[in-house]
Amino acid sequence: MQNDSSRIAIAGNPNSGKTTAFNRYTGARQHVGNYPGITVEKKEGIAHLDGIEITLVDLPGTYSLTAYSLEEVVARRVLSEESPPPGAVIDVINSGVLERNLYLSVQLLELGMPLVLALNMMDEAKANGLNINVDRLAELTGLVCVPMVARKGEGLDDALRAAVELAKKTGGKVKPLEISYGTDVDLALKEMTPQIEEAKLLTANYPARWLAMKFLERDEEIVRRATEANPELSAKMQARGEALAAHLKSTLKTYPEAVIADYRYGWIHSILKNGVLKGADDIAPDDRVAFSDKVDSIVTQKVLGPLILFGILYLMYYVTIELGAIPNDWVANFFDWLSGVVGDVMSDGPLKSLITDGIIAGVGGVLGFVPLIMIMFLFISVLEDSGYMARVAYIMDRVFRFFGLHGASIMPFIISGGIAGGCAVPGVMATRTLRSPKERLATILTAPFMTCGAKIPVFLLFVSIFFDAHRPLVMFSITLCGWAAALLVSRLLRSTLIRGAATPFVMELPPYRYPTFSGVVIHTWERTWQYIKKAGTVILAISVLIWAAMTFPSPTPEDEVAFEEQRAAITSQQEAGTLTEEEVEAKNLDVDNDEQQLHLRHSVAGRLGTALETVTGPAGFNWQTNIALIGGIAAKEVVISTLGTAYALGSVDPEEDTSLADRIRNDPHWTVANAVSLMVFTLLYSPCFVTLMMIKQETARWRWLFFSLFFNLAFAMILSIIAYQLLK
Ligand code: GDP
Ligand code: MG
Repeated sequence: MQNDSSRIAIAGNPNSGKTTAFNRYTGARQHVGNYPGITVEKKEGIAHLDGIEITLVDLPGTYSLTAYSLEEVVARRVLSEESPPPGAVIDVINSGVLERNLYLSVQLLELGMPLVLALNMMDEAKANGLNINVDRLAELTGLVCVPMVARKGEGLDDALRAAVELAKKTGGKVKPLEISYGTDVDLALKEMTPQIEEAKLLTANYPARWLAMKFLERDEEIVRRATEANPELSAKMQARGEALAAHLKSTLKTYPEAVIADYRYGWIHSILKNGVLKGADDIAPDDRVAFSDKVDSIVTQKVLGPLILFGILYLMYYVTIELGAIPNDWVANFFDWLSGVVGDVMSDGPLKSLITDGIIAGVGGVLGFVPLIMIMFLFISVLEDSGYMARVAYIMDRVFRFFGLHGASIMPFIISGGIAGGCAVPGVMATRTLRSPKERLATILTAPFMTCGAKIPVFLLFVSIFFDAHRPLVMFSITLCGWAAALLVSRLLRSTLIRGAATPFVMELPPYRYPTFSGVVIHTWERTWQYIKKAGTVILAISVLIWAAMTFPSPTPEDEVAFEEQRAAITSQQEAGTLTEEEVEAKNLDVDNDEQQLHLRHSVAGRLGTALETVTGPAGFNWQTNIALIGGIAAKEVVISTLGTAYALGSVDPEEDTSLADRIRNDPHWTVANAVSLMVFTLLYSPCFVTLMMIKQETARWRWLFFSLFFNLAFAMILSIIAYQLLK
């Protein structure tokens, strides 16, 4: 009787020993022919194992499963389209060149084939001094791995038995391996896969994500057949592929096929490095990969790796903060100047107040940090484009495991601002690559503790006021505090609310590439533009709203009477000659300040902020800070813009320098203790509104949205109070 589980294919690179194994399995019971219409040899034979009869198919030897050669097309057709299809595949590997041979294995897994790795030529590998940890390979890949010497018949039965068992268990198909191919390709795949799935375009035989990838790889055979089946969708998918190709060409001077290949090797490389292979340096498939291996042997070394990582990060902070301060001042001065010009031109009234105090102070406060954030993004682009960012994840994996997270959690953390200047919204989305739901949830809930681009201005402002001499060091420490909070809370969550075992980790380590100038510029600009756009839309709207909340309702005329009386008293004293010019000016200014303060306190926001002082007082927040922090739940940028508005509205000394930093510096309320407390709070308190919505979307549970909102709020409040009380 013949069924799927008794039909097994033998795949592998040319000269890996497939035919040797096939002949040993089948003896004389084989027949050789050609595949219909083509000259590729077709070999089938019968093997006997444990009393059952198994049909073996010897696939043509290939390095890949793309459509570059007839052999490759035949191999993948046999696997996916022949009927009955094989129930499992024995992937015969030349163990001496493991890295190169596994490239085909990755593709078999991408195709969703149940796979047994037959590590053939173990005799030669051992003679050459290679040390392969077969158990570790099995653990990391999740595959049955059988050491084999086909020429001597060793391991053959074990491999076949495992394959038959696998075929029975899986019914011939498993969930296709989904590795990351880097941000750009992943994004394209995510857009394309659901469309292919929905239209059922060739999905009877191939996984949807695999098909999407074939469009990106410009696989002629698949594109042709897809076009026959559904010309419209096929054209759309091809267009998406072209768009990706154009993007990769302009940013990395490369093309989709190359990027995808890099990440496949990256997956393999990561596995081999993770304790599978000792003495791997001389077996890399090409010079670039060999070079990469050399660099990695230093950069990911146990002791040296973390030291280098810390050095790079610190250098980055140093340069950004020191260098960024210069253009930052220019921009801040520009907005001061603009505010002054508008103030001179317009007559007093709510409209002038709206434009200078609301819009210019609010949006300007956010835009003022563009130069600095641009320098930060420039560094991040270089690190990411070169491939070093992936190593960061690899290096930190050991640490992460301890905190109940995954090596792959680091990417979402970094995107959220782990190297300062990210955003938790894409960060939370990036957790989709995490395969374990528990580690994913822990990552989602802790990623918002990172120093996202919107929190940075708050830190920069207070660091420049209170820690000017140590700016880079303090900024670096704040980022580390964000990490510490994320790790500790994760550890807490993973031992309480989301308990569960860890899953083994394979993170792609693609070969390094030289970042191109245009690529770094484009990526930096893309990120900066996101930031500017937000300032011009969301922040602008919230600034106006908060300005209104801080302006209305106005005090009653009765309240104003008191001020008019005071002014009249000063004038009469002046006329009587009992006051000098300066004294008059000073007294008038006091009255003006008091009046502005009354206005602000009388407003909706002022009342709310004042009411909250009883709660936030122990953390050293005044009512202006309270208003700013409430605004920050809408978007973190608003913290700084609201402080700008609050202090612009609350202080009217025309002689003073008008920058927010100077106003805070001269306000007796602000001490180091208040500043540290506010920074701690800003770092840790509730994620912004958009992030909260993203948490709801990604976890599909309202409870995690509310958890993030209230837990983080309480957590931040407690730590801020502790910080303030200790430093006071
Ligand atoms: P195919 O191209 O994958 O079909 O590979 P073949 O079966 O033709 O084998 C290629 C060469 O490797 C032949 O010379 C085999 O004798 C040799 N070979 C196959 N298996 C082993 C093995 O386990 N150890 C060693 N040392 N040589 C092997
Ligand atoms: Mg052969």
